[in-house]
Amino acid sequence: MTERRAKYHAVNDQWPETIPPLTGPEAIAAAKRLYRFTMKKSWRGKWKLVSGNRYTWTHQGVFCVNPNYTGRGAINGWHDLVHFMSHYCHSRLWPRHKPHGPNHHHIEKEMVAYVLAHGWLERKLKPKPSKARPKPDAVARLEASERRWTTKLRRATTALRKIARQRASQAPPGGQGAVRKQRNIIATR
Ligand SMILES: [Zn+2]
Repeated sequence: MTERRAKYHAVNDQWPETIPPLTGPEAIAAAKRLYRFTMKKSWRGKWKLVSGNRYTWTHQGVFCVNPNYTGRGAINGWHDLVHFMSHYCHSRLWPRHKPHGPNHHHIEKEMVAYVLAHGWLERKLKPKPSKARPKPDAVARLEASERRWTTKLRRATTALRKIARQRASQAPPGGQGAVRKQRNIIATR
């Protein structure tokens, strides 16, 4: 066994035999925490879920997170997420090093240990409800528009009721209503 293989055995042997599936919200929450754990700061950009064979990696300032990578070398959701996060952080910390350079296995090993120590495989990672409501301006605009239309609806209903009342009061005596009444009287005789 080469030295490098031995190093990565020490990384990967930490994983238990059965690993539960990883959900999208968990993957985002885990990626955020792992980034912060290794980089000692939060990722400032946005986060986005991706799927298929796309890597968990940044793309144009957005951190794309794949909870179920299906591309080459895929193992399982958790394993692959941690693997990609370790390589991403490594590439930022040591941009001149090769992907499996001398410091990489430490990062991955610590990340795996972090996941296990925090019980994330036992669903102890609770994704925080996002603080930023989606597009607060758009929501406020919709609510204002709804209020305006509700007012218009109320005015229209009042106006129609008034018209109906006026029509009833202007109906000539002996109109349809009166005729029907007479007929009823005739019919019951
Ligand atoms: Zn690797």
